Order: sequence, then C-alpha cells, then structure tokens
Amino acid sequence: MMAGLLFARAGVRTTVLEKHGDFLRDFRGDTVHPSTLRLFSELGLLDRFLERPHNKVHDIRALVGSRFIEVADFSHFDPRWNFTALMPQWEFLDFVVDEARTYPHFNLIMNAEATSLIGDGGRIEGVRYQHVAEDRTIRARLIIAADGRRSILRDQSGLPLTVLGAPIDVFWFRVPKQPTARNETAGIFAPGRIMALLDRGDYWQCAYVFAKGEAEKVRERGIGPFRREVAQVAPMLAGEIEAVASWDDVRLLTVALDRLDCWHKPGLLVIGDAAHAMSPIGGVGINVAIQDAVAAANLLAGPMAHGEAVDALLPKVRKRRLLQVRTIQGFQKLAQDRIITPLLATSGPFEPPLPLRLLERYPILRRLPAAFLGFGPRPEHVRSPVSGAS
Ligand SMILES: Cc1cc2nc3c(=O)[nH]c(=O)nc-3n(C[C@H](O)[C@H](O)[C@H](O)COP(=O)(O)OP(=O)(O)OC[C@H]3O[C@@H](n4cnc5c(N)ncnc54)[C@H](O)[C@@H]3O)c2cc1C
Repeated sequence: MMAGLLFARAGVRTTVLEKHGDFLRDFRGDTVHPSTLRLFSELGLLDRFLERPHNKVHDIRALVGSRFIEVADFSHFDPRWNFTALMPQWEFLDFVVDEARTYPHFNLIMNAEATSLIGDGGRIEGVRYQHVAEDRTIRARLIIAADGRRSILRDQSGLPLTVLGAPIDVFWFRVPKQPTARNETAGIFAPGRIMALLDRGDYWQCAYVFAKGEAEKVRERGIGPFRREVAQVAPMLAGEIEAVASWDDVRLLTVALDRLDCWHKPGLLVIGDAAHAMSPIGGVGINVAIQDAVAAANLLAGPMAHGEAVDALLPKVRKRRLLQVRTIQGFQKLAQDRIITPLLATSGPFEPPLPLRLLERYPILRRLPAAFLGFGPRPEHVRSPVSGAS
C-alpha cells in the first residue's frame, strides 16, 4: 500500500490488488516505529496520521523473573518521533489508502487475489487475478510482489529462497485492561515461557510464544490450565484472563524467517515479507517492509514517471536494502537461538542475561536498542518525486 501511495504520488499510474475485502484482521503487532513516523513526517502526513487512534510507547520494558528491566528508550529522539505508535493495522492501512486516494494515479482493487504471473521469454508482463469470482488480468511495466510471507507471486517467480528457520510459533489473544497513564507494553521472560504484551489502552494484545509444532500439545492441556499458566507468568493479566473463554479466542500465528537470494526478474520486483519474512522479535517487520517500498520508489518512481525502462535498476533495490534486512534478521536469529530457544527449555530460576543486566545498570545504553529497533542501520528517507496536485 505504501508503494502504491509513493508511485502514484510520483505520477506513475499504479494499481494495488488486495485479496481481502477490508483490513479488519489482527494477525500481528502494530508497532509503528520512529523510522516510519519520520517517513510520514517527510511526506507531510504525520499530524494526520496521529489523529488516528493509537497508543504511544516511549520505552520498552522486559519482566525477567520478578524484575522489570527497561531495555529501549526512544525518548532522546526528535520529539516528533520519540516513541513507537501502536496502531491497529486496519487503522494504519485505512489511513494510507485514504491518503493514496488523493492522488489521481492511484487505484485500489479490493477482493482481488493475484493468482499467477504473466510472462513470455523471461519478462514478467502482468498478473492474473480473481476479482470476486471472475478471472481477470492486468498488464504493467512493473509488477511489485508485496503479498507477504506466503507470497504466491514469489513462489511463481522461481526466485531462490534461503530459509533461516524460526523455531517458534505464537498464540495470539486479547485480555481486557484498565487504561493507564503510562503505556505498559512489555516482554515477559520466565522459566520455560516467553510472552509479549502490547498495551492497546483498554486491552492487552498478548503473544504467547512456544516451540514450533507444539500448538496441539498446548491445546491438549486445556484452556483452564492455559489461562492459569498465562496468569502466573504475566500477573497483570490475572484479573481478566477469564475473558479468554475458549480456544476460539486464541489464534495460532506461524512465524517464518527467510530471504530471497535475488529480489527481481525483468518486470518483477519482490519486497517486504515476500522478499524476506521477518520474525515478530523486536516488532520491526512492518517498518522494514515500508522502507523497502520507500527505497523502491526512490530508485524507480522518477524514471518510471518519465516513461523510462527500469529493469536495469531493479537489482539496486535489493542492494540498497540488504544491509538493513540482513542485520535485523541476523539479530532475530541470534535472539531465537541464544535467548528464546534456551529459555523455552529452562525449568528453574535464571538470571537475566548480561546484556539485560548492563541495560538495567547503565540507562544510557538503552539508546542503542532504541536506535536499532527504531531506525536500524540503514533507514530510508523519502526522495521519490511528487507529481501533480494531490
Ligand atoms: C505473530 C507476528 C507478530 C508480528 N508483530 C509485528 C509487530 O508488532 N510489528 C512489526 O513491525 N512487525 C510485526 N510482525 C512482522 C510483520 O507482520 C511483517 O513483517 C509485515 O506485515 C510485512 O509487511 P508486508 O506488507 O510485506 O506483508 P503483509 O503485511 O503480510 O501484507 C501482505 C498483503 O498482501 C495481501 N495478499 C496476500 N496474498 C495476496 C494475493 N495473492 N493477492 C492479493 N493480495 C494478497 C494480504 O492480504 C496483505 O494485505 C509480526 C509477525 C508475526 C508473525
């Protein structure tokens, strides 16, 4: 959607296909980090964006055993983006669509599921898609596959994929809460158990992490024992945990970590999770995907608006983005292998690992995780042109 906005803004006739009829889905956290807030500021959209319902997180805490440790402090950034905005994805996407629609070159087709690529002699020239029950085609100078971590278009392209592996999956559920002045978003690390709690004002969005493939094992124990375990690990949920009445209230989200070795073919560019599925660790995937869209528009939208061929420029998008993607996926893999997997296998008491103890002792160090999560090693700036009136 962000790529759609940016290419249309540059004066390139752009069509976005979205397979769902609306955005009312809840399959991930909604951490809009400082990098994305700054991009909205560069687009002149930040004030309007922040009129949408959201919660601000200025620091991230971890509950380790019985100790709260502050791990990331965003407050030293520019006051316009010195926080992470927790905004549900339907609000976020509705906002981007509303802004994109102000550009005459933007066209969104909902209920439109891309089913295959069209191409002759190695060049991709379009996509086939199903709109309601009808088969349709669209031809274009460039197809951008941004269809997520189960991307059909990526599979069809035959581009080689490296699977880095994710040893965890997540149960995702809500528990009511009383709104508090301070946002209480936190990670929880207990023997054999890890949870993440996103404070969305009047409810907690909870992620219960477990070893991949063990969903059935957890369910077999029954919803009552599950509730008791959650309340024990996260005491702040104890009062309202009964709201999780049955397994129907608990969704299984599968986690993936992989990366395409090459993101393009003539006429095709793959970005976002389709090019590099991100784990939920650090809550950065949305922001990385948005930066891919910005980098793609920076490199391609101007030449396309002038009618130039861009196949030769496509490799530059991956080249530009690889440092960011590799570094963040490397951190996620390290956290999976060194912290999460050993902790899920622990049954006795444990000490917080050294990096957490250092963060506890030296507050200034909390700026480092904030900079890494908030911006990453190579954040993007909007450099694509604006064409015509919006
Ligand atoms: C449990 C979990 C929690 C997470 N929490 C966070 C978090 O807190 N913060 C964060 O930044 N990241 C988080 N992530 C990662 C984040 O979800 C992804 O990195 C991010 O959504 C990638 O964005 P994307 O636009 O590439 O793909 P997606 O967000 O997956 O969007 C793909 C879009 O394409 C549509 N689509 C799919 N197939 C087709 C098709 N064939 N035709 C047409 N449309 C199609 C889908 O409906 C969807 O709208 C989490 C991931 C998981 C698994």
